[in-house]
Parts: sequence; C-alpha cells; structure tokens
Amino acid sequence: MQRTVVFVLSANYSGSTWLSLLLGSHSQAFYVGELNKMFHDDPVPCRLCEERGVPCPVFHDADRIKAKNIHDAVLQRTGAKVLVDNSKTLSWSRKFLAEERFQRKYIHLIRDPRAIAYSLQLRDKPIKLDKWVKKNREIREFLETHHLDYQQVLYNELAENMDAELKRLCEWLGLEYEPAQKAYWNAEHHGPGRNGATAGFLQQYVASDAHFYEQNKQRNFHDLRWKTQLSAENRQAIREHAGLQTFLHDFGLEFDENGLRPRTTQSEMTAAD
Ligand SMILES: [Zn+2]
Repeated sequence: MQRTVVFVLSANYSGSTWLSLLLGSHSQAFYVGELNKMFHDDPVPCRLCEERGVPCPVFHDADRIKAKNIHDAVLQRTGAKVLVDNSKTLSWSRKFLAEERFQRKYIHLIRDPRAIAYSLQLRDKPIKLDKWVKKNREIREFLETHHLDYQQVLYNELAENMDAELKRLCEWLGLEYEPAQKAYWNAEHHGPGRNGATAGFLQQYVASDAHFYEQNKQRNFHDLRWKTQLSAENRQAIREHAGLQTFLHDFGLEFDENGLRPRTTQSEMTAAD
C-alpha cells in the first residue's frame, strides 16, 4: 500500500488545524496535529489522552522515537494510508525531504489576511503583513525549489465549497472522499496542539473567543466575523498594502467580498482598463 504523509504549510491563524482535522477524519487517514511540538525541549503531549488521563495508544513512547522515524511509527501503529501533519514550519518539513519510506505531499493553505487580522485583534495583536507575505513566499519557494507535489487551498473556498474542495484533495491523496469526514469531532484524534477547531472534541480549550467556539461547537462554519468586527480603516489598510498587492498579483489571487479568489480573466481585463 502506498503510504502518504501530507504536510500542511501556512502562516499562523490560517485554519490549518481545521483543514487537517477534516482530512485526518477520513477512515483511512490519521491526524497527528502539530507533530513537531512533541520534539521541542519541552514536549507537548497528546491533548486528548492528557485530558482523559490515559496513556496515549499512539504517542505513549514518543520521547523514545527519533523525530525522523515518527511518521513511519505512526503509520505502522494506526495502519493509516495517509497521515496529516499540521506542524506548519518549514524547518520541520525540511527534515523529511529525503524520506523514502512514504510519499510526501504538501498543502499550501492561504487565508485572507483580513480574517487573520481579526483573529489577532481578538488577542490584542496587530497583523504584520510583511511577515505574512514573507512566510507565504517562503512556503511557495520551498515547494517550487524542491519540485514538491503540492496543492494550494484558499481557506474561504474550503469553507464555501467544502465537498468539492475535500473531494479534490482526497483524490489527490489517493483517498475516496467520504462526506462523513466533515464531522471531524466524531473521530478520535491524537496529537499535540489545541485551538478553536479542536474545541469540538477537547474540553479544556479557553480562548479569548471561547464563547464563539462554544456556540459553533461540532459544526463547520465560515468565520466571516472580520467583515463586521474589523474596522473599515483596517480592512482598507490591508487591501492597500503594497507588499500584499504584489504578492496577490504574483500568486494570481485577488480580494473579493468574502475572501481571496483566483484572479479571473474578467478581472484581469477590468484591471487593464
Ligand atoms: Zn492520545
């Protein structure tokens, strides 16, 4: 059986946990969260088993497994065909470029910076657009330089056309899409890391917007709060940021009402007018 590890790469607050859970809830896939966090100086344990106070059936001896062997070990233990690794950092992905025990695939997830600005606003932080652009350019350069097999995913397209987007990604990963995988809170997930998206199956998550996640627990939704909660000045400043405009142009993207879209011929013609 061809085994695959898919690495999800994105800037922070781009919805990578959510996307990873959706993919990892396929019956032949397994979500491992931010796996790199198990190999930090202060390792993060499996959140689900920590919460239940039980030894983790998948990661109980992770401290004795070398980072380079962790994917292979989890693939063997779970019997999964596809592992979804949401570590996000390029330094982690670089470690596995020569790996031959499984096929490597990559997803570059991009979320509208206006939505990210709102997530940061909730945490009293400003968005650093130059940093966002740099991170996304670094991801793309990594993927292109090493001729890696990757797909680009726009967060808002995933939220709006979930079936079509998941079907596309599953087929690329060699899986037959299962609509039931959308209910990711029904599957058992082991791994480090927790945030709003894991609130559907982990109890101990408290965020600045915990109430919002409590209300939306165990359902998928397109988070468009930025449209009303981010000030018009902020939204405009993001749209007019020169580095971001160049980035969008280079990536063939443009802003629309609810997010980012591939730039169409129509809009190119309008832009040329
Ligand atoms: Zn566990």
